[in-house]
Amino acid sequence: WPRQSAKLASVCAHTHSRSFRHLYPDGDLRTLLRRGFHEVVTPTLYSTALWERSGHWEHYSENMFTVTGDTHTYALKPMNCPAHCLMFEQRVRSWRELPLRWADFGALHRNELSGALGGLTRVRRFCQDDAHIFCTPEQLEEEIMACLDFVRSVYRVFGFSFHCLLSTRPTPCLGEPALWDHAEQQLERSLQQFGERWQLNPGDGAFYGPKIDIQIKDAIGRQHQCATIQLDFQLPIRFDLQYVGGDGETHRPVMVHRAVLGSLERMIAILAENFGGKWPLWLSPAQVIIIPVGGGSETYAQQVVRQFRKAGFMADVDDDQGATLNKKIRSAQLAQYNYIFVVGEKECVSGTVSVRTRGGKQLGRRPTDEVLASLTHLRDTRSNQDDF
Ligand SMILES: [Zn+2]
Repeated sequence: WPRQSAKLASVCAHTHSRSFRHLYPDGDLRTLLRRGFHEVVTPTLYSTALWERSGHWEHYSENMFTVTGDTHTYALKPMNCPAHCLMFEQRVRSWRELPLRWADFGALHRNELSGALGGLTRVRRFCQDDAHIFCTPEQLEEEIMACLDFVRSVYRVFGFSFHCLLSTRPTPCLGEPALWDHAEQQLERSLQQFGERWQLNPGDGAFYGPKIDIQIKDAIGRQHQCATIQLDFQLPIRFDLQYVGGDGETHRPVMVHRAVLGSLERMIAILAENFGGKWPLWLSPAQVIIIPVGGGSETYAQQVVRQFRKAGFMADVDDDQGATLNKKIRSAQLAQYNYIFVVGEKECVSGTVSVRTRGGKQLGRRPTDEVLASLTHLRDTRSNQDDF
């Protein structure tokens, strides 16, 4: 099932989470695949029987949207975890299959109080770059290390500095004290090996397991918490998840919830403020605009825009007949296009474009193919440089 879903997902996920693909180091699903994740797609709507089983109905139902069908009540998922537990339990699992790593960008709904809503940072419908890892207790340390490394590789691209907080057992909590001791020690060892700055945050873990929260610092020094790596001893018990170990006996897997970017909507808000609206080329939704000057150059402008779009750029043509060149340049700058190409008769004849940066710097008339190659390089290397 996961393999088939991964194929489907690459089609479905594309429609609602194009942005996340840009945010990972490879700019697409390769980052997940390289790190051993399968992308899965799970339903949005479930019978309340599932939420009773997972414990959400008892502890979280006031935050859930419900829908009444024929004879049943259903609820929109506020998180993906129970669906992944269902996937795990659908057949007997062997230790040879573990760790299982399932990534899910499904739409989540949470009925936040209207007063708590704000811009993109707190919304009622959002997507996370969510994943769950099911592993043996012995595999935990390595899995946590791999999660931390994933987080670092993503945040490095944005230039965010970060530190980790290890939150340990609260009172009251569920689960055997020995299990907590062991897990907390493993998390601590992973953090020490990881080598980044970390702090202990005693008593702040979830009631179902300890966690590592990652706090980032943006360009203007504000702290945000987006990534989280959370152990869960309770869901595997509630769903009675088991695997057959090397010894032929059945064992309980450990479940790890982890998100790197967290809510994609919230991350986009943080990035928008971090860059002050001036997106670097590789993240920009408005990369290039072509301004034709004078009749005859419009066909050429259309040809250039097609060439750039084919190479994966977000490119537009300003074909407004009424505005002056200066006004067009000014509006393109206000719209934060990274590059403005002015094309007139000379450019048409010589296959060139006259390039300006968003900051108003004129880079001169250059062969279109050369400009395309340079911008492709700047984009693919995630460069923050304007000049080329
Ligand atoms: Zn989860």
